[in-house]
Amino acid sequence: MIIDAEKIENILSHTTQTAVSLIDDILAEAGAAHGLSLEHAAALLSVEEPALLQRIFKKAGEVKEKVFGKRIVLFAPLYLSNECVNNCLYCGFRKDNRDAVRKTLTIDEIIKEVKTLEGMGFKRILLVSGEDPKVSGVDYLVDAVKVVYENTGIRIIHLNAPPMEIEDFRRLKDSGVGVYQAFQETYHRPTYKTMHPSGQKKDYDYRLHVMDRAIEAGFEDVGIGALLGLYDYRYDALATIAHSQHLYEKFGSHAHTISVPRLRPADGSPISHAPFPVSDREFKKIIAVYRLAVPCAGVVVSTRESSALRDEVIRIGASQISAGSKTEPGGYTLNKFQISNFKFQNDSTEQFSTNDHRGLEEMIGAIAKNGFLPSLCATCYRVGRVGADFTDMTLSGNMEKFCQANALLTLQEYVLDYAKNGVRELGTELIAKGVEEIKNTGLKKEVLKKLHEIRQGKRDVFF
Ligand code: SAM
Ligand code: SF4
Repeated sequence: MIIDAEKIENILSHTTQTAVSLIDDILAEAGAAHGLSLEHAAALLSVEEPALLQRIFKKAGEVKEKVFGKRIVLFAPLYLSNECVNNCLYCGFRKDNRDAVRKTLTIDEIIKEVKTLEGMGFKRILLVSGEDPKVSGVDYLVDAVKVVYENTGIRIIHLNAPPMEIEDFRRLKDSGVGVYQAFQETYHRPTYKTMHPSGQKKDYDYRLHVMDRAIEAGFEDVGIGALLGLYDYRYDALATIAHSQHLYEKFGSHAHTISVPRLRPADGSPISHAPFPVSDREFKKIIAVYRLAVPCAGVVVSTRESSALRDEVIRIGASQISAGSKTEPGGYTLNKFQISNFKFQNDSTEQFSTNDHRGLEEMIGAIAKNGFLPSLCATCYRVGRVGADFTDMTLSGNMEKFCQANALLTLQEYVLDYAKNGVRELGTELIAKGVEEIKNTGLKKEVLKKLHEIRQGKRDVFF
């Protein structure tokens, strides 16, 4: 059983009063960066006291640094299609949103969008699509992935697309997709049923088993998450951790990423506010607990969140963030008039409204100023550090050195090829400081050699 609802409810009902001494013990255990039991994760999720919360945040920041170093990975989402046969109550792409301007990018438009992102300096993109087998089925997705690799310098493509059968997953994996991502939205069955009234998505179990199918088809890296705000966050956060533990028990690898999408207003959605609002304080607690419970997972924070909050969460366990995101197909290059070739009632093509509008350069500057290391690395998926190997290497403390070194190399490329507005100087300083911090003299020598190669014109250099 992937999610034992009774067990999760039982754990939650027994952890309302957690003693401070127990929290001390749990944080000491979490410091080893080997993860936490569901009981201990639930105990941390129950903490409300500000001083105790600060200690959880601090520990999560330390564990993040222990497993991945100071690096924060950057990527951009690219929306391929907002046509959708489902009717998820919270989403602007839902079928019954008659006001939405519908658009599925053509192959030429995909290339144009990706070239725009590439021109900003992105090396990693996440393709996103609504669910409509007639226009954005697996043939279309495979073609999209192929043309991006063939026509642009994007190094890795991840995909957030509807659940599918093993055969289709095989084709997608063969096309070169890195991480396959899909969110359960809520693990709470009754709420799931209300939120997903029709279409394939109404089948809770089909969606719950999607990662098992993806992994069986050869996807070693998968990304999970709950849409925060649909149901009690304690239940959904704990179930998300349980989902990752299930994957570890069955396949030897935890979820490669855990995303924390928090419900945002969406035009044309009948839900005007979250049924179970998650405050900023709770949001931070969820991020920190994911980091402590599943230390090897990338915790991904999108531009659904404000710039101030995103600057904060990189201190408490988040390890990957998007930048400059548009949540509509064609958002980077097409204007609304071009998109609305058959329908233009209002302005709406977005899935939901974003909250942090900083572009890649500004994000890189902000991460650097906050004392972290922006990274455009896409190496692991390309050199086979995936699945169980990635989980083992990360849990045994052997990933940090690769992450740190590759962050420096990709930052060097960015500084030479794209940086302006003071980010060039800031990046150069950061690289010098980062090299100084490498304790292993052999590795330091290798990094210096590779940095020199990049300055001489070589590109795509990595460990
Ligand atoms: N259509 C596919 C699906 O539903 O799995 C994949 C793409 S969907 C566009 C990506 C994710 O956006 C959904 O899984 C959901 O978690 C999130 N989402 C939808 N509506 C949202 C909203 N109003 N606010 C925040 N996130 C939302
Ligand atoms: Fe369609 Fe996905 Fe939006 Fe649901 S969340 S309406 S499946 S795009």
